[in-house]
Amino acid sequence: MLHPEVEARPWVEQLAIDDESYRLQLAYLFDRSPFYREKLAGAGLASAAAAGGLGDIARLPCTEKDELRASRTPENPIGAHLCAAPAEIVRIYSTSGTTGTPSYIPLTAGDLDNWVTGSARSYAASGVTAGQRIVSTYNAGPFVAGAALASFDRIGLCHIPVGTGNTERLMLVIEQLRPEAAVLTPSYAAHLVEWAAERDFDLEGSSVERVLVAGEPGGGEPAFRAKLEAGWGARVTEAMGIGDIGVSLWGECEEQDGMHLGARGFVHAELIEPDTGASVELADGATGELVLTHLRHRAAPLLRFRTRDHVQVWTSECGCGRTGPRVRCLGRTDDMLIVRGVNVFPSAVREVVSTFAPEVSGNVLVRPQAPGVKQEPPLPVSVELARNATPDAVLADAIRDRLRNVLVVQTHVDLVPWGTLRRSEYKSTLVEHQVEVDR
Ligand SMILES: [Zn+2]
Repeated sequence: MLHPEVEARPWVEQLAIDDESYRLQLAYLFDRSPFYREKLAGAGLASAAAAGGLGDIARLPCTEKDELRASRTPENPIGAHLCAAPAEIVRIYSTSGTTGTPSYIPLTAGDLDNWVTGSARSYAASGVTAGQRIVSTYNAGPFVAGAALASFDRIGLCHIPVGTGNTERLMLVIEQLRPEAAVLTPSYAAHLVEWAAERDFDLEGSSVERVLVAGEPGGGEPAFRAKLEAGWGARVTEAMGIGDIGVSLWGECEEQDGMHLGARGFVHAELIEPDTGASVELADGATGELVLTHLRHRAAPLLRFRTRDHVQVWTSECGCGRTGPRVRCLGRTDDMLIVRGVNVFPSAVREVVSTFAPEVSGNVLVRPQAPGVKQEPPLPVSVELARNATPDAVLADAIRDRLRNVLVVQTHVDLVPWGTLRRSEYKSTLVEHQVEVDR
């Protein structure tokens, strides 16, 4: 552990510290944030004292990304949640922005330091230690991933940046510089396993002992993870963050049993029912949408921010000694489909299909037939066969049956030849979206 006194602190003690931070954060928001003064007044809360402590947080309204976006003006392109003076801001990241204009994420020096601290704990949980080499494949550019890369310095790793879209160089670096760890998206990690197999590159026997995956869900799903671990001959652990709140907030330890909150003390986590917004208790096995609140943020703190990440939570003790809840991302709420009342995540479909390896490649494409979330069964799913495999009705039926048994969803499975579905060096598209619909 990077900070055992923090990471192994009894969770009740953590919550007591967080409660104090939260009350100060609320007072700061009432003092500095036009956005939250108005929003909380609208909910009948005229002061920080009226809003209470962490135990009362579920009474507060959630914050949606769209509200922040709507509060931007030409004079304040960041948004009305900006609290800090220009001279206090040391970094401004931006998101890719699906609507064309990016969202800006400002940070003070203290915010940035907290981000890097949390991210360093999350990545160190994987077992990488000072003095080791790590090769990274993110093109950080304007994005928050830059702060994650800074966390490698904090851990004391030798960081070898290679960037995205440069597979030849990446493999050469692995061969020549012999890094102990690699950090990449799970999709790219899977793509590299295929790439290596096609070229007789001995990835399994390479120096890489740890593969740290982040950037999209799936890296923690057992069958998909097993495939990556076999291909890389390495232990695979995942990390997860959300741009507006913090980079790599969560990181998985060597027990591989869900991600710990590396950003504990900086961020408070809750679960809600995505449809109703009702609070869900953080109990062992609970699922829901992750809602995050800044506790010690200065530039543009957020309260009860809806992450759109649908997660499962575990509160049982972890063998590593870290305390507090652990999560695994089941999928993005935005990618979720509802088939006759049943929530279906494309990454869960891929996970079930992956259990049919080596007969399938593990690449899938879910093809909704109607715009929007609600779909009528059967849901069409293209499943790519393994190299040299031929379409086989028995296999298609077996996949369809297992999808029905595990996910309770009726599908139509269409087996497609090896190489048909697009590979990604960044994030995979598991859903063939209909003409863009406003969400
Ligand atoms: Zn652990």
